[in-house]
Amino acid sequence: MFALIAVSLVALLAVDLRLVTGVVMRLHDETVPWTVERQRLARNLEELRMGGQRVLTVSERPARNDALLVVRILAAHPGMSEDPRTASLAKEVEAFLTNSAASADPPDMKVWDELSRRLRLLADDLSVEGGQRVSVELDRMSEAVEQTRYKLLLNVVLVAVFVASFLFILRRYLIQPLQRIHRVLISLDGRGALPLLSSSSMAEIHAVEEAIVRFDATLRENEEVRLKLERLATTDGLTGLPNRRHFLGQAAEEMARARRYGRPITVGIADLDHFKQVNDRFGHAVGDQVLQRFAAVVQETLRETDRVGRFGGEEFAFIFPETTPDEALRLAGRLRQRLGASPLVLPDDSILAVTVSFGLADATGRGLEESLARADAALYQAKGGGRDCSVLAAESASDISPQP
Ligand code: GH3
Ligand code: MG
Ligand code: MG
Repeated sequence: MFALIAVSLVALLAVDLRLVTGVVMRLHDETVPWTVERQRLARNLEELRMGGQRVLTVSERPARNDALLVVRILAAHPGMSEDPRTASLAKEVEAFLTNSAASADPPDMKVWDELSRRLRLLADDLSVEGGQRVSVELDRMSEAVEQTRYKLLLNVVLVAVFVASFLFILRRYLIQPLQRIHRVLISLDGRGALPLLSSSSMAEIHAVEEAIVRFDATLRENEEVRLKLERLATTDGLTGLPNRRHFLGQAAEEMARARRYGRPITVGIADLDHFKQVNDRFGHAVGDQVLQRFAAVVQETLRETDRVGRFGGEEFAFIFPETTPDEALRLAGRLRQRLGASPLVLPDDSILAVTVSFGLADATGRGLEESLARADAALYQAKGGGRDCSVLAAESASDISPQP
């Protein structure tokens, strides 16, 4: 559309240029020579008039003949015959002067005055005609130039509009989508919501946007798989609690923190009592349910900062940051009590209540391994002391006190 209008305007400009060139050529080849010719003719008429004046006024015969000769030469000038007006007037003047010069009588000055006046008027007319023709041509040229100026201006405006539209389209359909794609690519991590893409109308950009959506979906799948693997590597499949390796990592961190700030910390190991009998009497599946029930009770009872892990079999390890051994004993007591309060109802409606024994050890200022070994020793004491109780590892070997 733009191109069509621009081409039309350029074509119109070419027409105007041809017009101006035509006028200039005509001025050069016809009008100016014609005008010069008119001027020369006017001058010759004036010369003829002055020559005639001399013929009629000088008294010496030779001078009068010379003047008459000049008049005849001027009247016979080829230029005079080009215009019928000059041709007839020149002949008339020549005839009158020749007669007057030949006659012995004084010339009729009234006739001459009339001829002289007509010569002057014709000379003036010829001068004016020449000027008028040049002026008409120049008017035509200036009109064409003026039109060219407007068309040129229109073309400039059109080019400006075209450039502005082009830049607008470039920005809207190419630069902005690319900027959006850039922002999306930077924020792409397979977790947060995918920022909205423009759904560009440009096929290439649209293909890139679709590729980004596919890429994002792949990233999300990868992230899900990664999280699943992480869960599998750190969590016990049966109870959902951290596994031994993961618990030991968390416990080491808590121990380091407690040591750094000189805070109290207690560790514990719990072991379900007579669990083998549960398996033997009710089957492995019921045993699994008991393990899950205990894990649930633990998760409901523990505080946000406490950590627990399935240590192996029916054995669970605990770490209680910011907790003195006495507070830990109370916590273990609460756990045992809650476990007792939530027995398993078996398919035959019989009730299965299990108990658990705890071994606890003050880990403040001690290593993790040593503390867990002391808790394990205390657990052994709890089992020996009749089970369903908590034992705090003694600071010295003789100071052991099972807690009901
Ligand atoms: P104590 O009171 O002295 O701890 O006796 P106990 O029977 O609980 O201890 P023992 O070590 O003799 O038996 C532990 C049993 O726990 C043996 C094993 O089959 C069972 N067990 C270990 N892991 C699992 C499990 O994941 N599911 C089930 N159902 N049983 C398990
Ligand atoms: Mg055991
Ligand atoms: Mg046991």
